[in-house]
Amino acid sequence: MQLTFEKTPRVLYIEDDRGLALLLKKRLERQGFEVDLAVNGEEGLKLFDPENHDVIAVDQNMPDLDGLDVIKTLTSYNPIPPIVMITGNGDERVAVEAMKLGARDYIVKDMDGGYLELMPSVLMQLLAHEQLLHEKRAAEEKLRDSEARYRSLVELSPDGIVVYRDDTIVYVNEAAVRLLQAASAGDLLGEPVATVIHQDCFEMVWSRLQRTQIGGEQVRLLEGTMCRLDGHRVDVEIMAAPIVFEHAPATQMILRDVTERKRAEEAQRETETLRIALEKEKELSDLKTRMMVTISHEFRTPLTIAFSSAELLERFQNRMKPEQQTGHLRRIEAQIKRLTQMVDDVSMVFHSTFERMMVNTELTDLRELSRLAVAQFDSDEQPRPRIQTSIDDDLSPILIDPARIRYVLTNLLSNALKYSSPDTDVLLSIVCRGSGILIQIVDHGIGIPAEEQARIFEPFYRARNVGMVGGTGLGLSIVKDIVEGHRGIIRIESEVNKGTSVSVFLPQQ
Ligand code: ADP
Repeated sequence: MQLTFEKTPRVLYIEDDRGLALLLKKRLERQGFEVDLAVNGEEGLKLFDPENHDVIAVDQNMPDLDGLDVIKTLTSYNPIPPIVMITGNGDERVAVEAMKLGARDYIVKDMDGGYLELMPSVLMQLLAHEQLLHEKRAAEEKLRDSEARYRSLVELSPDGIVVYRDDTIVYVNEAAVRLLQAASAGDLLGEPVATVIHQDCFEMVWSRLQRTQIGGEQVRLLEGTMCRLDGHRVDVEIMAAPIVFEHAPATQMILRDVTERKRAEEAQRETETLRIALEKEKELSDLKTRMMVTISHEFRTPLTIAFSSAELLERFQNRMKPEQQTGHLRRIEAQIKRLTQMVDDVSMVFHSTFERMMVNTELTDLRELSRLAVAQFDSDEQPRPRIQTSIDDDLSPILIDPARIRYVLTNLLSNALKYSSPDTDVLLSIVCRGSGILIQIVDHGIGIPAEEQARIFEPFYRARNVGMVGGTGLGLSIVKDIVEGHRGIIRIESEVNKGTSVSVFLPQQ
């Protein structure tokens, strides 16, 4: 056997038989030992150097101090290297005595010198065993060290730390004592861990914690509520992991108090709700202002026209020809219709601010509907652009709300006509496109400034280039609601002084 120790092992061999001692010394040196010889017990004790001797072999039968006396004295040293007692044949009683005193092994001095053969391997085994003991002690020390480090870290942690085993709390740090409003750790130790988890989230938290014990899983940032000893609740973030605590498996829970954070979040949510409410309020007040401006301006024109016709009729009826009288009555009627339409539009816009546009669909002949919408402008007295119509031959009846879609056609055509010069054309086209119908109205009029295009669907909004052209700014807002009520899409492309193209896609219902 070859020695594999870090340094050459050094033996102190105490033996009064000098010849035997030298013989054994040689053998041991051949096996890689370094040997110090002492010829009697006294010399042995003098020679003994606790720093340098790794193992001691001592003969029992020596004059003055015998082996047992030497062992007795040596064991007062601490630590002491392993000692082997060499006894005479049939002297087992002494061997037992020596082991009791602290010898680690014994060897019997047989007559044929077999023990000389045995000695090196006995010493080597002892040394190997010693080395193992040493390593074990070092490992234990390291563990004690890391446990001490763990404790001081955990003690100082600002987060509450609770360690439990078999569902019972076995450790809590100061922060946990404070968090759970206990008077001291003693109030919590030995208590079931379940008592500190609030019932509102118990099942969810408990099932996650169980997984740390069964599957060794970690729990990362679980939001939960703990129950303080005074019965109040405390919101926490929970992290948990399986650990070895005091040599046995356990679960460590880290509890972070999030009460303050939750309060701040709640306050932020409230501010946000308030901000949205304020914005809505402002939007509504803007809407009201724009409405007042529009009403006072736009409603005045038809009222003035109707009033002047009525006044003329009253004053000069007798002097008027019958067709002149009818003309004035028609004008009054037309202005009343215009006013009625405006009132209807205002009420529709206000309703759609609060509820989704209702549509009552029925199979409708869109070709006929568009013919009626175009015909509506035939009676216009003033010159206006021509309307060119192009309708797909394949167009078959479609499920739409006829009254609402007629409103869409009329409004888009009316815009195209009023915002274009009379010598241009307006094109109305209807084509079947994929799973729906595409209606397009194209004009070559004043167009809409690019920066205002996003706003023209807002109620009462009118682009700044409308000049003297009358309008309430309500039509497009209603049109958009109707199209979206049909789950359709409306798009506007426009360029100032080039023209505008409005596309409405209505999907098959
Ligand atoms: P209005 O009664 O003012 O026409 P709408 O809601 O129908 O109201 O349209 C909103 C605004 O969009 C109009 O005031 C105008 O500025 C712009 N607009 C709509 N259609 C056209 C168009 N075809 N050409 C130019 N501008 C248009």
